[in-house]
Amino acid sequence: MTIEEVKANIRDIIDFPISGIVFKDLTTAFKNPDCMKFFEDELYRLYKDKGITKVVGIESRGFIMAPVLGNKLGVGFVPIRKKGKLPADVIEISYGKEYGEDIIQIHADSLDENDVVLIHDDLLATGGTMKAACDLVKKFGIKKIYVNFLVELDFLEGRKVFDSEIEVESLIHF
Ligand code: AMP
Repeated sequence: MTIEEVKANIRDIIDFPISGIVFKDLTTAFKNPDCMKFFEDELYRLYKDKGITKVVGIESRGFIMAPVLGNKLGVGFVPIRKKGKLPADVIEISYGKEYGEDIIQIHADSLDENDVVLIHDDLLATGGTMKAACDLVKKFGIKKIYVNFLVELDFLEGRKVFDSEIEVESLIHF
């Protein structure tokens, strides 16, 4: 499957969740096994030689491909969730959103200083969520962070928020 064919499987939902947003709905791609195979193969090709020891996924759309890739790499999956969802001891970070602030959490025993971590989410918009996730993961003193998205909205220039030592890759660009 080509990138253009995968793009054709991603649906635009106008004015969701609020007026003025064109929401990139990936569920139409996830239900197509050829698109799933494309995502799995491309992610594996990008990260198979990086020494990744954990794949971290961001709630909730990051929970779809992160475990698939972790399995393929033979490493574990770690969730980052919204405040109040994880049952054991957590560390957390708050970050500014367009309206107010949000808090994300990760289990305090989920990573350590020997880890090389890939953090995955479905889509890069402004980058605020992923930047907070990077800052949260850095608190473990880990060796290196890679950042991945299935889709990047280039016109929002979200990748500018990441420090230069973080490698950011997206499979598909709009
Ligand atoms: P941001 O922090 O602005 O990069 O927003 C990223 C998060 O919001 C991701 O988890 C996306 O799933 C979601 N998101 C933001 N904008 C869109 C969009 N236009 N289409 C689909 N998802 C979006």
